[in-house]
This record gives sequence, structure tokens and C-alpha cells, in this order.
Amino acid sequence: MTERIIPIADARYHAAVPPVPDAPAAPVGHLEDARGRRLHDLRISVTDRCNFRCTYCMPKAVFDKDYRFLPQSSLLSFEEITRLVRIFIDHGVEKIRLTGGEPLLRKDLHRLIAMLSPLRTARGAPLDLTLTTNGSLLTRKAQALRDAGLQRVTVSLDALDDRAFRAMNDVDFPVSDVLAGIEAADRAGLAPLKINMVVKRGVNDHEIVPMVRHFRGTGHIVRFIEFMDVGASNGWRLDDVVPSADVIERIRAVFPLDPIDPNYPGEVAERWRLRDGSAEIGVISSVTQPFCGSCTRARLSTEGRLYTCLFATGGHDLRALLRGGCDDAAISGALAALWQSRSDRYSEIRASNTTDLRRIEMSYIGG
Ligand code: SAM
Ligand code: SF4
Ligand code: SF4
Repeated sequence: MTERIIPIADARYHAAVPPVPDAPAAPVGHLEDARGRRLHDLRISVTDRCNFRCTYCMPKAVFDKDYRFLPQSSLLSFEEITRLVRIFIDHGVEKIRLTGGEPLLRKDLHRLIAMLSPLRTARGAPLDLTLTTNGSLLTRKAQALRDAGLQRVTVSLDALDDRAFRAMNDVDFPVSDVLAGIEAADRAGLAPLKINMVVKRGVNDHEIVPMVRHFRGTGHIVRFIEFMDVGASNGWRLDDVVPSADVIERIRAVFPLDPIDPNYPGEVAERWRLRDGSAEIGVISSVTQPFCGSCTRARLSTEGRLYTCLFATGGHDLRALLRGGCDDAAISGALAALWQSRSDRYSEIRASNTTDLRRIEMSYIGG
């Protein structure tokens, strides 16, 4: 019998149109799921395309010239995104992160920032609006993003060593351009930046200490992220993960460290400070210390599908409601019902799940 291969691109098609309740209750600025977790953060993927082919995220063997990215007509427009964001805010969302793919590839992204930045949370505070980027286009775009109202930016940077960096992005992109982008973002007032490094054993773990050394004294916060088994194409093995506890030990051997309190309860990154006060660093231990118990994040895919977990196998087609003529009250009611029935906790039960082929890709849903 021949084995049937499920093309990875098909994963995106598993989405159901969420039912709209008959008489949706008005939102009250606070929504809890079946495990008592608030809806607080929304990550929005604005494109599924990327100019990098990071080996752990969009390996070339899968994301090649034949890979079918979403057509323009499938993408949520900026107006549709803004409409949904307002509805999410009514349910208590206070933090929005734009991501992708590479979000700066989305044409005129500053226009979306300008539409989102004036919005206020249900409590009347400014929205916490940020963006995660590979930094390749920041030199050109940082100022326009800032002028449109962006407050902060997170840049992914997996190595300082040019050879290691080029090998990880797999498109021969030089690290100097990303470092220049980081400086441009700093100058534009998007500081302090967060610099995210995904650590993969034997590939870039020799860069942990140099990364701390390089960004000491700049005010930027380097965060080391455990390599995750997200998606179905990155060939993840537990052996490739460098546990955050090891990352901390390696840094502590060179720079004495003290733990610092979280900024808020349930913060994903564990924070540390160099004893000489020259830097804060963070570790994100998605694999060795799952944080599902305090996971308050929803994710919106490029074509408007809501995912209640990074490891979800299916989404909920909000675009169908938007384009099907539903009014805001109906969409709001459907969203409330979806979140209230959420019980995801993939990372806590990962061990029994790693063979599932239908997980969505990180580049599609955003990190
Ligand atoms: N292209 C942008 C970037 O690289 O910053 C935004 C999208 S990217 C999918 C968001 C984040 O996910 C990046 O920081 C990236 O390093 C991280 N990421 C991607 N695949 C990952 C994996 N398998 N494990 C851990 N983090 C991953
Ligand atoms: Fe692109 Fe970001 Fe994925 Fe790298 S991590 S391939 S930059 S989407
Ligand atoms: Fe949240 Fe799912 Fe990650 Fe757990 S596995 S922290 S529920 S996104």
C-alpha cells in the first residue's frame, strides 16, 4: 500500500465557519476560556510570504518555487483587520503583535499601523502595538513605521557571526544589514528593542554568549527561545533543543546574573539582569517549561482564520463572516463562543502529539 502524503499547504484549508449565536450578548471587555484564561493578546499575520528561508521555519525544500502562497484576494484587507481588531478589543484584547511571514513585505504596512495605533483598549488605555520582523527591511521602513504610531519592534536575529547567520536564513542574507536595521529602529525611537534568537543545538548555540556581549549597554533585550516543534516541516527533534536552563548557565559562567520579577503575571519570557546592570536578557522555554496555563493569545492568520493555539490543527474562518455580510454584533458573538470553548494546552501534552502532520506552519500563522 502506498502511503498518502498530505501536502503541507493543505493544512491551511482546515477551517470551519464559526456559528453565530442567535442573540449574541454584548461584549463586556473581558472574556475567559474554558480554563479561565483571558483573551488578552492577538497576533496578526499580515502575509504568509518571507524573503528568508530560515531552516527551522520555512525550509527551502518545502517553501520552494512551486509552493502556493496565498493570492492577494485571500488576504484580509487593512480595513477588515481593523474591524476585527475593534471587535477583539471589545472582548478585552490589549496587545496586538503584527507578524507573518515577514510583515514588512506587506505593501504599505505603515497604513495599517496608522489605522490601529489610535485605537484604545476597553479600559481606555492606548493599545500595546508591536511588530516582529526579521529586520531585513528595517533600515528603509523604521521611520515610516514609527511615524505611523508603532511603539516597539522585536527583531529576530539568530547569530552575529555572518556565516552562521547566512546559513540559518538560507538565502545568504548578510547579518550587517539586520544590525543596520536594528540601529535604524533605535534611531527612529522604536527602542528598547527585543532581539529574539531561536537557539538550535549545534547550529547557533555558540552564539549565545557573543549575543549577550554584543547587546550589553544598548538597552535592547536579547531573548533566547527554545526551538519549537511548530508546523510540520522543520524536522524538529528534542535533541536540537537547548533548554533555557542551559542557556542561563552558559551566560552565567561569563556574566553573573540575577533573576528579575515578571513585568506582569503570566509573562512568557523569564527575565534576568546582568549583575553589573549592563543588560536585561530573557529566556522563553516553550518546550521545557510550557506556559499554557497562562496563555492568553489568539492568532489571526493572513486570510482571517482564528487559531486559539499555535499548535492548533484547524482554524475558524472569521473572513467568511466578514465577507458574508455579518454585522459586528454577530462576529463578536461568534468570537465569544469560540474563546469560551477554548481548552488548548498543546505544550503541556506535547509528548503524545509530535507526530501530527496537520499542524499549521509558523510562517502562516505568525510566531
Ligand atoms: N519573519 C518575522 C521574524 O522572523 O521575526 C516574523 C515571523 S516569525 C514566524 C516569528 C518568530 O517565530 C521569529 O522570532 C522566529 O524566530 C520564530 N520561530 C519560527 N520558527 C520557530 C521555531 N520552530 N521555534 C521557535 N521559534 C520559531
Ligand atoms: Fe521568515 Fe521569520 Fe520564518 Fe525566518 S522566522 S523564515 S524570517 S517568517
Ligand atoms: Fe498557548 Fe497553545 Fe502555546 Fe500552550 S501550546 S502556550 S495553549 S499557544
